[in-house]
Amino acid sequence: MTKKIFLSIITVSFLAVTAAIILLTGISYKYNAASAADNLRQSCTMISSAVEQSGGKYLDTTDFGALRVTWITKSGRVIFDSKQDPDRLDDHSDRQEIEEAMRAGEGESERYSDTLMTKTVNHAHRLSDGSVIRVSDVQSSFPALLLKNLQPLAVMLTALALFSLASASIISRHIVRPINDIDLDHPKTEKSYKELAPLLKKLRKQNGRVNKQMIELKQSREQFSLITESMSEGLIVADQKSNILTSNSSAYTLLGAEKNEGDHTVFSLCRTEQFRRCIQDAMGGRRAECLISTDGGERKVIASPANSHDTVNGIVVFVLDVTEQQQLETMRREFTSNVSHELKTPLTTIYGISDMLASGMVKPEDISSLSNDIRNEADRLIVLINDIVSLSKLDEGTAPRQDEEVDLYDLAADIISRLKLSAEEKHVTAELTGDHVTVFGSRTILDEVIYNLCDNAIKYNNEGGSFTVKVSHIPMKAIVTVSDTGAGIPEKHLGRIFERFYRVDKSRSRKIKGTGLGLSIVKHGVSYHGGTVRAESAVGKGTTFTVELPIEKRKG
Ligand code: ADP
Repeated sequence: MTKKIFLSIITVSFLAVTAAIILLTGISYKYNAASAADNLRQSCTMISSAVEQSGGKYLDTTDFGALRVTWITKSGRVIFDSKQDPDRLDDHSDRQEIEEAMRAGEGESERYSDTLMTKTVNHAHRLSDGSVIRVSDVQSSFPALLLKNLQPLAVMLTALALFSLASASIISRHIVRPINDIDLDHPKTEKSYKELAPLLKKLRKQNGRVNKQMIELKQSREQFSLITESMSEGLIVADQKSNILTSNSSAYTLLGAEKNEGDHTVFSLCRTEQFRRCIQDAMGGRRAECLISTDGGERKVIASPANSHDTVNGIVVFVLDVTEQQQLETMRREFTSNVSHELKTPLTTIYGISDMLASGMVKPEDISSLSNDIRNEADRLIVLINDIVSLSKLDEGTAPRQDEEVDLYDLAADIISRLKLSAEEKHVTAELTGDHVTVFGSRTILDEVIYNLCDNAIKYNNEGGSFTVKVSHIPMKAIVTVSDTGAGIPEKHLGRIFERFYRVDKSRSRKIKGTGLGLSIVKHGVSYHGGTVRAESAVGKGTTFTVELPIEKRKG
């Protein structure tokens, strides 16, 4: 704007000055021309009267300076010329000024020479004898006058231009300053031009509206980020160039990425090939999913395109923590393969023996022992299937939920008595100590929990060993410990004994009947009641299992 005003002032001043110069030169030219014509007329009258009195002698003896004096006879022949030889001049009767003078007594004319840029002014006077005296003067034409004065004019113009430049610069800045000084956030009408008042008022109103919208926008952004930040799933929204528009902390945590300031694309969050392809698919307009492994665990990435009219405007990416799901999936696969294996072993034995019996190749005295083997393997199968069924029920939450008050001490006493035979077989003595502590829960499941622990305490005990069941409580918790004097469990196995089908010493365990599912059932049964179970063991000394169950009554 300053520049525009500046240029306008400069142009206007330049045009005004130029016009003034031309006008002034024109006026002075006109004035000079008029006075020169006047002088010419006077000179002509004077010379004419001198010729009237003294005749041609006057003309021959007088120096006329720059003036050209010509005497023309009535017939138009030149008889005297102060500048040229009269004999060489042609007939002048057709000259405008001569014609006029012959007709009216006085005549005038002007003739221009474009090449010489001059103007010849003529004045003619008729004498009493009918001849004509003509006085001519050569003057500069208007363009010639301008050209003649070009140098002083140029100097003047330059001086004026410099002056205009300086003043235009000051004036334009002065004009623009109040506009520049307007505080656009808080425009005040009284401090600026009157003409700008409506605009400033409008601006003030708009500022108010924008501020209100900004506050609303900020509030909704805060609300949005509050919601997304509380999500455990990762959320990323990106534009069509994959630049992140919004994201929550979970997205960074789950992908193991650092939240850096500045521009970054979705691709910078995870460098794996699967992730890159998944995002690219979504960018291409296709919903895509992938599984990626990070240091923190397994992640599922779901990327969906945000389309409008067949154009992908951006993408929405969800990142889910599927570590547990993946682990469960692995466990399920292992479980299925273990179940098949465990079922196959006794069945193969049963099949083999029955095949031998059917072929009639077995000696009659061996039949009883082989039948016994079949029975043992069938027993093993039944135990295994029972365990699998219990575990499945616990897994699916379909275990009988007839919760009731269960006295753990009485339950333990009952279990010990049920295991009396197998304890005696191994010469293991059992002891029950503690108090009558009652919990609210499933008798069947609690029975399975304590039974499995006591059964193990006998199975994995040494000949002549012992085990103790102690029922006690601390505030809000019932505690059941089963300690034995068996071989113990090496430290490296202790963390895995609760896994399905995990058996510490496979070759030794072969001899001891078991499925590897007992402690899994214990763990599930305890967590069904909201409790915990842990094992402590010292190799060669024995093992202690501690079960902690909440005492408060469970509803439903
Ligand atoms: P199993 O049917 O083999 O007894 P469990 O799940 O009950 O299966 O136990 C898993 C493994 O933990 C057993 O194979 C055994 O090696 C070990 N174990 C369990 N209880 C004891 C114990 N009281 N003393 C020593 N080892 C034990």
